[in-house]
Amino acid sequence: MCANAPRYKRILLKLSGEALMGGDAYGINRQTISGIVDEIKVVVDMGVQVGVVIGGGNIFRGVAPAATGMDRAQADYIGMLATVMNGLALHDAMRAAGMVSRVQSALNIEQVVEPYIRGKAIRYLEQGRTVIFAAGTGNPFFTTDTAAALRGAEIGAEIVLKATKVDGIYSADPKKDPHAVRYDRITFDEVIAQNLAIMDATAFALCRDQKLPINVFSIFKQGALKRVTMGENEGTLVSC
Ligand code: UDP
Repeated sequence: MCANAPRYKRILLKLSGEALMGGDAYGINRQTISGIVDEIKVVVDMGVQVGVVIGGGNIFRGVAPAATGMDRAQADYIGMLATVMNGLALHDAMRAAGMVSRVQSALNIEQVVEPYIRGKAIRYLEQGRTVIFAAGTGNPFFTTDTAAALRGAEIGAEIVLKATKVDGIYSADPKKDPHAVRYDRITFDEVIAQNLAIMDATAFALCRDQKLPINVFSIFKQGALKRVTMGENEGTLVSC
């Protein structure tokens, strides 16, 4: 393999809704979203096929205080619709950056966004288009982390890249514990044994069962997404 070739040909990037807020308290920060798109464009331009699962936590979460007293399933549908809004915003930011992307939704809202069809998504990826997967799994009681594991497995991604604000998995909360150390690599079993929270249990179990590695990294660290895609030591790699 050429030394400068990316380590992965197809990746699934999980972007939380909160990543889009930037310094704002709510919603989508234009500058932040275009900065994230620039990072994604770099790897797409390297020929890497990119699927993105977008969260909705910057707008609504089924388990958030705003949903207190609501029927949980109903609240989760609102959360899923929030991810569709983020997906459309991401799509538009990609268009503005000269990228070609498609949004597919797990809930049918066909006037706005095409439905999720696995074969079509794979075809788009093969054509070099970035596919944004919106509306999570389409089911209440799940999260977009689980959607990332599911879509990652479905499209045959080689890895799930979990973009967070923190640059990897630490032995303790680095904000609270100055002795916290970042792991370069860790196994699925070690994550369970040490009770480290990196994804919800359903998402984590799916990745583990499918032997789908996860790389946790910071989307706000310039060039980090590229380094992960090149197979460099960036963030924390969780594997078997
Ligand atoms: N959600 C859901 N089913 C899914 C994915 C998401 O019901 O398969 C709802 C759920 O209410 C969740 C919200 O959508 O709280 C937003 O997703 P998530 O919290 O995963 O977003 P993130 O934290 O990544 O921004």
